[in-house]
Amino acid sequence: MAETRVALVTGANRGIGLEIVRQLGRLGVMPIIASRELDKGKRAAEQLASEGLEPAVVQLDVDDPQSIATGVANAKDLFGRIDILVNNAGILIDGPSSGAPTVENVPLSIVQQTFTTNIFGPLLMIQAVLPTMKEIGYGRIVNLSSGLGQLSEMGGGYPAYRMSKAALNTLTRTLASDLGHGDIKVNAMCPGWVKTDMGGPEATRSPEEGAETAVWLATLDDSGPTGGFFRDKKQIAW
Ligand code: NDP
Repeated sequence: MAETRVALVTGANRGIGLEIVRQLGRLGVMPIIASRELDKGKRAAEQLASEGLEPAVVQLDVDDPQSIATGVANAKDLFGRIDILVNNAGILIDGPSSGAPTVENVPLSIVQQTFTTNIFGPLLMIQAVLPTMKEIGYGRIVNLSSGLGQLSEMGGGYPAYRMSKAALNTLTRTLASDLGHGDIKVNAMCPGWVKTDMGGPEATRSPEEGAETAVWLATLDDSGPTGGFFRDKKQIAW
């Protein structure tokens, strides 16, 4: 019988991350909710338990290297392996609610905070899980990127967020080249504009729709792609 795959999803206590956990659980994957506040993660797990799912929970703040090390070690201890990493945790703090700064006037502190969460976090997460993926000879890494980080269609505004997601795409491509076409696949995806706390109530997509492509990439079979950027399960331009 095939082994049960174990998936660690960051920022999974709400929004798209919670929905990714739900959909992975329904597929028979063992999801682990990584939440920077343990109580929030536990409440999310209780919500899913009422739907018949049994995700595990670990505390993990992607801004804090020590929390990443401890959280990944705790996740690995739970089931002895981590097959799937979904780098979902992210922030957008240079939008309209913060005065819509531009490149000309965005405070460095906003850029630094955005990079800490959106790119240094995923980088450290990848560094933390790769040894166990190499040990088991299997890995699926999914980076939640954004059309706002697409260089080929780059607009103005959201400078910190755009730069962080473009950097996340660069991380995806570089890692894919480092790994080659082997047992570990890494891809980036854009969920579209999704109704969450980040996307707001005017967004055009549900969290269910937003999570679908991430779940597909998290469960790719051996013939699936690596080093790509996807929306709606279709490759899109970088
Ligand atoms: P939400 O704002 O709804 O949720 C963000 C999640 O990330 C929360 O669980 C939050 O935890 C967590 N988080 C934030 N900072 C940290 C941290 N330092 N450590 C751990 N967890 C953290 O966002 P969405 O669900 O909408 O977005 C998920 C991903 O999808 C993000 O990477 C986002 O950039 C991307 N995306 C979203 C789009 C959209 O339209 N919604 C469009 C394109 C991309 P807490 O509850 O503790 O704050």
